[in-house]
Amino acid sequence: MDVVVVGSCNVDLISYIPKLPQKGETIHGTKFKMGFGGKGANQCVSSAKLGAKAAMVAKVGKDTYGKGFVEEFQRFKVNTDYIVSTDGASTGVAPCLVDQNGSSAIIIVSGANLLLTPQEIEQAEEVIKSSKVMICQLEVTQEATLAALRIAKKHGVKTIFNPAPKLDSLPEEIYSLCDVFCPNETEVSDTAVTTIEEAGAAAIPYLDKGCFTVIVTLGDKGCVYVTKDDRKVCHVACDKVNAIDTTGAGDSFVGSLAYFMSCHASLPLEEMIRRSCQVATVSVQREGTQTSYPYRNELPPELF
Ligand code: ADP
Repeated sequence: MDVVVVGSCNVDLISYIPKLPQKGETIHGTKFKMGFGGKGANQCVSSAKLGAKAAMVAKVGKDTYGKGFVEEFQRFKVNTDYIVSTDGASTGVAPCLVDQNGSSAIIIVSGANLLLTPQEIEQAEEVIKSSKVMICQLEVTQEATLAALRIAKKHGVKTIFNPAPKLDSLPEEIYSLCDVFCPNETEVSDTAVTTIEEAGAAAIPYLDKGCFTVIVTLGDKGCVYVTKDDRKVCHVACDKVNAIDTTGAGDSFVGSLAYFMSCHASLPLEEMIRRSCQVATVSVQREGTQTSYPYRNELPPELF
């Protein structure tokens, strides 16, 4: 395997409505869309669409959404041998309301994602060990994420940790287990960072906590990165484009980075980051999440 993702699967259930309902109110929507999502699944599909041999370690419910997820991964040739199904909870879902001004209200019911146990991660040791890069996030339990990071470290597999969604605090051990710590501008610090300088200053302390590389994604400003080697704050800009839907841009970036780290390992880090930004910037010019992620043949050949 090139990339293994240990993480979440959530089905996005999006209703488009004229205005968000009040308490007790019933509103008729104008359109409905379903999409396969969850940060883990998005990052895995992002890598796979670029051509990585990818595997997903996750838990879904024994229901139609869970079955649909496995079929969807297989469509992208993702290995699904380590997707466990449970009748203990439903597949994770994210019902979402979007009004005509684009304002939204989202509920995430994590369901089966939270039932993925450290023991089940240990049963996936073989696939983690045989991968070049592992990605994880925080939409499964911290215990499961920690178990995955420990196994990857034990076998010298490079790790990318995306600390999303933002939590108040994380076990200190996590930092020493990640080669690349990759938050966005809201996740990197308790106080929101907006400028390149602020992002750099917020990134440095994670090097002291044990991370080897910290990359902070900054939306249309690209990314800032620092490494333990020289602790120099570097900025990678992205192209100015007409963004129409930035949902899942961070997942596109993380999945692309894993692709470049595993399939183009000899590239300098800055070049991997620049190319990942370029892929994510393509995704924001298209609607949807996984559907907006580009396939390799839709990108300039010099990226590969
Ligand atoms: P998240 O989805 O986690 O908030 P970001 O918004 O930081 O992630 O975006 C991740 C990457 O996607 C950025 O580093 C950039 O490459 C690309 N991106 C996001 N928004 C835009 C935009 N408006 N224009 C161009 N690229 C963008």
